[in-house]
Amino acid sequence: MGQVVIVGGGIAGLSAAYELSKTGIPHILVEKRPRLGGVIETRTWEGCVLESGPDSFISQKPEAMALIKELGMESEVIGSNDAERVTYIQRHGNLVRLPEGTTMFVPTRVGPMLASPIVGWGTKIRMGLELLRRPATYPDRSVSDFVADHFGQETVDYLAEPLLSGVYGGDVRKLSMQSVMPRFVELERTQGSLARALMKSRAPSGSGPLFRTMKRGLGSLVEKLATYANVIHGEVETIEQQPAGGFRVKLSDGWMDAAHVILACPAWSAAALLGGTDGVLARGLEQIPYSSSAIVTLVYNAAEFDGQRAGTGFLIPKVERRKLMACTFVGTKFPHRVPGGKLTLRCFFGSTGNEGVLDETDDRLTFFAKDELKRILGLTAAPIHASVNRWPRAMAQYTVGHSERLKEIQSRAAAIPGLYLAGNAYTGIGIPDCIRMGREAAKRVASITSTP
Ligand SMILES: Cc1cc2nc3c(=O)[nH]c(=O)nc-3n(C[C@H](O)[C@H](O)[C@H](O)COP(=O)(O)OP(=O)(O)OC[C@H]3O[C@@H](n4cnc5c(N)ncnc54)[C@H](O)[C@@H]3O)c2cc1C
Repeated sequence: MGQVVIVGGGIAGLSAAYELSKTGIPHILVEKRPRLGGVIETRTWEGCVLESGPDSFISQKPEAMALIKELGMESEVIGSNDAERVTYIQRHGNLVRLPEGTTMFVPTRVGPMLASPIVGWGTKIRMGLELLRRPATYPDRSVSDFVADHFGQETVDYLAEPLLSGVYGGDVRKLSMQSVMPRFVELERTQGSLARALMKSRAPSGSGPLFRTMKRGLGSLVEKLATYANVIHGEVETIEQQPAGGFRVKLSDGWMDAAHVILACPAWSAAALLGGTDGVLARGLEQIPYSSSAIVTLVYNAAEFDGQRAGTGFLIPKVERRKLMACTFVGTKFPHRVPGGKLTLRCFFGSTGNEGVLDETDDRLTFFAKDELKRILGLTAAPIHASVNRWPRAMAQYTVGHSERLKEIQSRAAAIPGLYLAGNAYTGIGIPDCIRMGREAAKRVASITSTP
């Protein structure tokens, strides 16, 4: 049997390689960067675990924990410190605590929302009226239209937009509610009121931490997966379908044959590789937009930290017109990651419409971060460590109509025997989803190769 070529050594490609290695199917994983992990990268500095990109995964989706258990790394997993989970949102220049009981943008506890200045009285009355909504079905619509319809525009501006920007780095006026939050669309269809539905189904306390991660950083998961992967570093330049079946894959220094190809690279990269094989498929992939972001990480001596300690961090809505999007207090979210005596802040810039910030120099980005922290937290202390990471075109955006466009992409890809797509452009952007898609692609290869 011919080999499988996996293009891309992010978490999706590595998960595919792991799954193939379990079944003994030969593979080569081609990664263009000198390191594996894609957007996952962990560094350490004087005992601080510093994540350059993602820092954790949501516990609710089981695929990441299932893989970690299989890899025998369960004892290395830590949970988020939910007891101290307090998020602030900036409103008119001041930090306002996210009212308790707010699930994304949906209020599920009346008292805290009534007492909070996060939205005005008109919106609070609107939130009350939402309880009276009847079940209804709409065509796919933007997150912004959906939320404004249920809870008013102020809820879009001060809750949905900042909370979702933190996850997607996208524009809520374009993101598809159906693809981004299918559960809420289902509740709208079956129950009408989201607030009423979520009040009834509040998660019991003691149901485990909201987020999990690796004590030594997500990079330790990448390192472990890499031990199962047969890796070549180089850039795949094109893929050609062979008349007799299979593919020829071109790298800068030559060609290799492949019986199957798993494209675990961003959709825009997959599009460039498939232009000669299926132009329509390539154009479909090209149309999946991506957003870009930059993270400035600052470490402080705790004794010198003279700013407000804002819980697990704060979010800045776009309507506040600032460069900074969000800031996480790493040691509050994951205490194991910052040694006593230090404080680590992760400052997020960029997202759809603000990509220009990535063109700034590291020094300028660090200056912006410090300047914003001084204004918001009153922090004047100098950081003892600063680093900048840029993630251009890294986060796929599921815009309105994504699920319909995806059906077309999937059916065209399925018509090319031996070709599989995996990664954050398709059915989930989080780490558990990318693991699922990588493993599913490998399982499909295995099911075909084991068929007599
Ligand atoms: C800043 C940031 C923070 C995030 N935070 C979280 C979080 O906390 N929790 C969470 O669950 N998710 C988070 N995400 C989302 C999640 O991390 C990503 O969606 C996921 O890791 C993407 O994995 P992937 O394998 O699909 O793609 P990638 O990680 O992008 O990997 C694709 C790989 O393909 C390689 N490649 C591309 N083209 C070629 C080619 N032609 N030849 C060879 N190699 C190629 C690239 O170099 C890259 O290594 C975050 C994303 C970003 C950008």
